[in-house]
Amino acid sequence: MRKKLIAGNWKMNGSLADNELLCKAILAGLAGDDGSQTTAVAVCTPSAYLSQLKNLLTGSKISLGSQDISSHDKGAFTGEISAAMLKEFGVRYAIVGHSERRQYHGETDTLVALKAKAALAAGITPIVCVGESLAEREAGKTEEVVKRQLAAVIHENGHCISEIVLAYEPVWAIGTGKTATPEMAQAVHSVLRAQLHAASPVAAERVQILYGGSMNAANAVSLLACSDIDGGLIGGAALKAADFLSIVAAAK
Ligand code: PEP
Repeated sequence: MRKKLIAGNWKMNGSLADNELLCKAILAGLAGDDGSQTTAVAVCTPSAYLSQLKNLLTGSKISLGSQDISSHDKGAFTGEISAAMLKEFGVRYAIVGHSERRQYHGETDTLVALKAKAALAAGITPIVCVGESLAEREAGKTEEVVKRQLAAVIHENGHCISEIVLAYEPVWAIGTGKTATPEMAQAVHSVLRAQLHAASPVAAERVQILYGGSMNAANAVSLLACSDIDGGLIGGAALKAADFLSIVAAAK
């Protein structure tokens, strides 16, 4: 059975003081909890705070994640952060291809696949985001879009594909309060699972497919009960310790 993963995506939020409060409240909520056997927990923070979070999380059950990673090893790439640099801060996961990166930074399927490759080469697990826009869903193109996005990652990463985490994040559900119903989400997750299976039966068994898009304390139980939903990538609700902890509890 696949372990569940609940990963918070803090986006461009936080401050030294707020992060400490949030992190300590989450750690306190998880203290004495032996659920780490079945559910892994991660927080993906702004890069500026990785050092702070490394200190706060070392020795805890919460893994550290970044929200992006460079596809390059080093050199003249102003503003980018390499996999090797992230490793120095104990980063275990890197989100790649978040729809906000695709939309506001023009990231293509190929670049996302190369970022996943750079992460894997450094022993960082990429959380590869795929998802359709509202217009694409309404045009009946959901499957086509997510399969195209995943195909690029499979093509570039070959047998390493079993080492990724996948996140289905319908763009129309991110930060909008609109959520895919469990049936809608499960339908897409099973398409992604089948695509992984065609590439590698091992990958289909191993890869955790997270749902992201306004997951909250109220809808988490029904979404996480679906057979192909192996966890959540959580934006807004990850910024409130009580909400985040309720989602972690729902994953058990
Ligand atoms: C996200 O940004 O990955 C996300 C899922 O955000 P939200 O939970 O706020 O919709």
